[in-house]
Amino acid sequence: MQIKRITVYQHNLPVVGGTFRMAKAEVAQLDSTIVAIESSCGTVGWGETCPVGPTYAPSHAEGARAALLAMAPGLIGAELDKPLLLHRRMDGLLNGHHYAKAALDIAAHDALGQRLGQPVATLLGGAEGDRIPSYFATPVGDPNDIARLALEKVREGYPRLQIKVSGRPVEIDIEVVRKVWEAVGTSARLAVDGNRGMTTRDALTLSNACADIPIILEQPCDSLAEIAAIRPQLRHPVFLDEGSTDLATVMQAAAQGLVDGFGMKVTRIGGLLPMTTFRELCAARKLPHTVDDAWGGDIIAAACVHMGATVAPKLFEGTWLAQPYIEGHYGDTGVAIENGSIALPPGPGLGIKPDRGVFTREVASIS
Ligand SMILES: [Mg+2]
Repeated sequence: MQIKRITVYQHNLPVVGGTFRMAKAEVAQLDSTIVAIESSCGTVGWGETCPVGPTYAPSHAEGARAALLAMAPGLIGAELDKPLLLHRRMDGLLNGHHYAKAALDIAAHDALGQRLGQPVATLLGGAEGDRIPSYFATPVGDPNDIARLALEKVREGYPRLQIKVSGRPVEIDIEVVRKVWEAVGTSARLAVDGNRGMTTRDALTLSNACADIPIILEQPCDSLAEIAAIRPQLRHPVFLDEGSTDLATVMQAAAQGLVDGFGMKVTRIGGLLPMTTFRELCAARKLPHTVDDAWGGDIIAAACVHMGATVAPKLFEGTWLAQPYIEGHYGDTGVAIENGSIALPPGPGLGIKPDRGVFTREVASIS
């Protein structure tokens, strides 16, 4: 089952209702990259990567496509159904660029699952069940509006909320946290996500001002060094998200006791194969974590749900999907959040069959 052709598409995903605001990024439309890998036996595996704008992370949409086009000629003839060997071959062609390699990794797992007649979750170790919990992320916004939205989402069934803060005076963020807490209480677990935008001063101020509220602080500051500097004074558990860029950093943060858990994105770490290693590192240290969509459409969403289904439930903080925030599905194979949870797509591979006709902007087809 060798790789015969790699086709790369660019695909726009509009954000519902205009823009989504985070500490260091505002997005109105997502620039996603889709890959279709055809094998010698006719199987097609689908992958996707979708940076959320150019300022959220050191990755960007055109960079993903450039990296894929740089690797693609050297991957023709590679075994599509051996994800580990595919990773080694990709690493021999290009240093870094995990977010681009993730698209090929997802496509390889999809193809392998189709070949074996097994869902991707089975290839990753086995699903705990056929539904997984999700969580809802509120944008940076007015305290009363965010509290109203938070209550609405808890009533929909979300077991966890992530409150976006930062990029403005910390006093407003403190008011947001307090009003959300007053609105929802213990009916949902609360994460407060600074998206690496807070100063150490503001992170300490918020943590002290909200010491009576059971939140976790997700990536309040930019660097691991900043988080380490204030860690002993913080009044809340800390999760690392954007800073956990690779497995070595995850090992360092866990070994040094710098964090109490992780927000993790499948594409940031390089795909499903490195994600299984991450999952087991966290299990070894009893560190809870998410399994997230790094934005993107149905293909990334399906990959995240398969991965999330394999995490031990007591360590699983849920899967965030861009699906409620974006318009457009890849055919009739949407992955949907219903009452705060997501069904594992049925069938072999990713369990979705994207309609190739949806992707009208072919970037290149290499064979
Ligand atoms: Mg986060």
